[in-house]
Amino acid sequence: MPENTRPRPICAHCDGFPTVAVTTGQTTPDGHRQTITADCPACHGTGHTAPARAYTRVGA
Ligand SMILES: [Zn+2]
Repeated sequence: MPENTRPRPICAHCDGFPTVAVTTGQTTPDGHRQTITADCPACHGTGHTAPARAYTRVGA
């Protein structure tokens, strides 16, 4: 399979699942479970690591 697109590297911290819902154990007045979402601190909820800065030139 030819690789036409270069996928951005998956965040190793969250393995591509940057946002998780955590149940608080309480229910809203509607009767739904109350959840809070937490974003991955490493990629800030993007699921991808920031692209490394292009090659740093060393020497001449
Ligand atoms: Zn992440």
